[in-house]
Amino acid sequence: MHIVGGGMAGSEAAWQAAEAGIPVVIHEMRPKVETFAHRTGDLAEMVCSNSFRSDDHEQNAVGLLHWEMLQAGGLVMRQAYTHRLPAGGALAVDRDAFSAGVTQVLRDHPNVSVSDEEITELPEDGQWIFATGPLTSSALGAAIARETGADALAFFDAIAPIVYFDSIDMDVAWLQSRYDKGETEEERKAYINCPMTKPQYEAFIDALLAADKTAFHEGETAGYFDGCLPIEVMAERGRETLRHGPMKPIGLTNSHKPEEKAYAVVQLRRDNALGTLYNIVGFQTKMKYGAQTEVFRMIPGLEEAKFARLGGIHRNTFLNSPTLLDAQMRLRSKPNIRFAGQITGVEGYVESSAMGLAAGRMAAAEILGRPLPEIPQDTAHGALIHHITGGAEAKTFQPMNVNFGLFRPVDGLKGGRRGRKDRYKAYTDRAKAEWTGWLATQEVPA
Ligand SMILES: Cc1cc2nc3c(=O)[nH]c(=O)nc-3n(C[C@H](O)[C@H](O)[C@H](O)COP(=O)(O)OP(=O)(O)OC[C@H]3O[C@@H](n4cnc5c(N)ncnc54)[C@H](O)[C@@H]3O)c2cc1C
Repeated sequence: MHIVGGGMAGSEAAWQAAEAGIPVVIHEMRPKVETFAHRTGDLAEMVCSNSFRSDDHEQNAVGLLHWEMLQAGGLVMRQAYTHRLPAGGALAVDRDAFSAGVTQVLRDHPNVSVSDEEITELPEDGQWIFATGPLTSSALGAAIARETGADALAFFDAIAPIVYFDSIDMDVAWLQSRYDKGETEEERKAYINCPMTKPQYEAFIDALLAADKTAFHEGETAGYFDGCLPIEVMAERGRETLRHGPMKPIGLTNSHKPEEKAYAVVQLRRDNALGTLYNIVGFQTKMKYGAQTEVFRMIPGLEEAKFARLGGIHRNTFLNSPTLLDAQMRLRSKPNIRFAGQITGVEGYVESSAMGLAAGRMAAAEILGRPLPEIPQDTAHGALIHHITGGAEAKTFQPMNVNFGLFRPVDGLKGGRRGRKDRYKAYTDRAKAEWTGWLATQEVPA
């Protein structure tokens, strides 16, 4: 098996396949070819923060991914625990010791070899996993775009904040598509609308202009286009710009107060098939996370909003996975090629490693001729894979972190803020049982 990219996903995929008895070659371009973010030639380098985020496997979806990876003997998680630093409830690590540990384990593994080279084409045969990450080299990016079509490969993300539906105040917001467009009742009510008066709009613009912003990383020159300008940049162009853009009020009538004409309207659009997540339309932003929650909670109806993820714009190569990949993470047009990691449209060290774990096991099973049962959708791995390969809206697909909004509801549990603790525990209990069952299907009898 060939794995391109020895980052978080490629390293985990290599380990899973090698442990299943498959000889693996990792093709890693560093240190010969560099990226603007990596600093070393080690495998699994952490390019920025040294944290794998929350380690709470009962109440947090990232912590649940940690748990699932550990149960599957995941190398990234094992090394993270080995090199753990005190960080409260988070799993933070000594970054150099962590990457050195992953590198050594893989280089010492009898089934693994590492080839220091850049791959610039998609091969016609052999089993390949491409895990080249957000900073995929430009030659390979061009080859992927030739195969997928340029529209299906993005080089920047433009992430609008995503809100849990059950945290939106529907006594203030209402459901309606602009001009009631749509063939069905569902389409005519496809958007959630949050109304603003003139003073609320003015205060919102002031807050946007004053908010702390993140600078682009070195080498990451402002590559956004007019179609996806950060909202604060739109506001800088003129106080009325947003009211004529993503916040325009025309064609909308507040069903709670039909006689009142809103001065501006913020719209949210459904972000997953389950209807548990909504994104704030056109609200991609470079505001710092703390500033985002403060500013977005000024929007009427979102005062208590809980965010599944906040907005951002980054240099980030990723596929339109819902249209390009099958449920086994294979490229539909070239099934000898799988993708894994951040390039599939997940985001973060943990999610990327998890997609590497899944792809490594899937590819190994295919080579061994042992069919692998589908990863259960109610596990954290399964919820993510289901989202990127089908559950997400393909037209507006943007990278996703793991979160409980991706999980199917558990019947009979209370919605809303009060029931949250019990609900999350029910999700994680169900996931653990399903994951344990799935792993058991792959145990080779002694
Ligand atoms: C500037 C920046 C900051 C980030 N900060 C964070 C953070 O703080 N926390 C977090 O969780 N996530 C962060 N991320 C996201 C993070 O990069 C990913 O979560 C994670 O590293 C992705 O894992 P991956 O295996 O998909 O990609 P990577 O870990 O990037 O691994 C991809 C590997 O592929 C190699 N490669 C690329 N092209 C080729 C080629 N053609 N041939 C051979 N090898 C190739 C690269 O050298 C690299 O080693 C950040 C990303 C960037 C760009």
